[in-house]
Amino acid sequence: MEPMFSPPLHRQRHQFVIDFVKRNKTKKVVDLGCSECSLLQKLKFHREIELLVGVDIRGAIVKKKMHGLAPVSTDYLQPSYDQLRVELYQGSVTQKDARLRGFDLVTSIELIEHLTLADVERFSEVVFGYMSPGAVIVSTPNSEFNPLLPGLSGFRHSDHKFEWTRAEFKSWALKVCLEYGYEVEFTGVGQAPPGQQERVGFCSQIGVFQRLGGSESCSMLFGDDAEDVFSYTLLYSVNYPSLHDNNILRRVLVSEVLYWAEKLKSRWMEERTGESQRQAEDGEECFGASERHMEMGEKQTAACGSEVKTPVEQWDRGVPGQQEGEEQQVFWRNGLGRQESCRSRRCVSVPLAVLWSCCPKVNALSGSLSNLRHFLMDDPKVRLSQDGSAVLLNVQEQDAEEEEDHDVVEDSGYAEASRCSHSAEPEEDWEANV
Ligand code: SAH
Repeated sequence: MEPMFSPPLHRQRHQFVIDFVKRNKTKKVVDLGCSECSLLQKLKFHREIELLVGVDIRGAIVKKKMHGLAPVSTDYLQPSYDQLRVELYQGSVTQKDARLRGFDLVTSIELIEHLTLADVERFSEVVFGYMSPGAVIVSTPNSEFNPLLPGLSGFRHSDHKFEWTRAEFKSWALKVCLEYGYEVEFTGVGQAPPGQQERVGFCSQIGVFQRLGGSESCSMLFGDDAEDVFSYTLLYSVNYPSLHDNNILRRVLVSEVLYWAEKLKSRWMEERTGESQRQAEDGEECFGASERHMEMGEKQTAACGSEVKTPVEQWDRGVPGQQEGEEQQVFWRNGLGRQESCRSRRCVSVPLAVLWSCCPKVNALSGSLSNLRHFLMDDPKVRLSQDGSAVLLNVQEQDAEEEEDHDVVEDSGYAEASRCSHSAEPEEDWEANV
């Protein structure tokens, strides 16, 4: 009978729920009689939802496809700020469970007709009286439409206990509203052929119930007296990765910081190579330790990204007259003021202030410079300068060789500095953490 409708009727019912969720920005949704979780699968993409729960009396049918609700690799690789938890339960809608209280929306799509009339009464009490959600969407077959369904005799499904006319559905719905404080609107999906809509109504009739009194009445209901009944069995639960989780935020921030720091390092080294070549040609002398300031001021104010002008600390050069083991203070300048650099000659130091102000994602994720420092401080992948103001990146052998090749003048102090840096921190440890 489904091909009678386009899109198929079951899709139209699910789309009805999705449209409601989008319009009302519902955060907590339970689908009762969720079966193979097909509605939940669609709802999980609507990230206004923070808690998505499915319940069905038949655990086996839920288990069949429940893993389709798990996060996929992109959810881990590019987590968003949205939060989503999915829970699936085996249980009957005729029984109470405290975990299902306080939801924004309960959906019951083609479920009630599978219950005996006595169980429909229990369903009403459990859903409207106990769970007491902000809204309930109930869909059920409209028996007045049945004569239009080709080849149908009897009910639409062998497990159906009844199929109601519009008047019967209305009578149940209005009674529920009166008893539990809701109002209801009637609609449906699956249009009748032209000219017959008024006479037979929709193929699936739908009642959209809204609780009277808004959210206040709900918090009153769930006071200290709330019965803590846990009759359902949890089959599956999963939390989607979210940037609200500090561990995930740190992971994303660290990888972003390392990416940008490496990028800035490469740019700077490229520029340095060019400079060295020019200096060698010009016969320019090396800086002395006391006057070693990189006058890069104006250059450094340039933005990061494609236009980046190497706002990176420097890799020290050998200094004639420098004693072995003597610490070298190397500075650079930019619009953000003077920053202390790496004390080793074999690393490049990237000030956090530069990363924070130039890299939009680092800025957005950390919120402030002190947050950024705080996040990076305890991460084993990141090496910070002693005062915590810069990320230190070691210079790969390849980079060093290139520098040696290009910068013969600075060769004398290089090996010394290299030894010094190695004795301060074994290279293997650092390498292992990169
Ligand atoms: N809502 C689904 C499936 C409807 S079929 C959809 O839109 O496609 C009805 C489902 O209700 C079945 O999966 C059945 O196992 C479940 N069901 C029947 N009685 C139930 C009860 N008492 N409590 C919970 N689920 C029940």
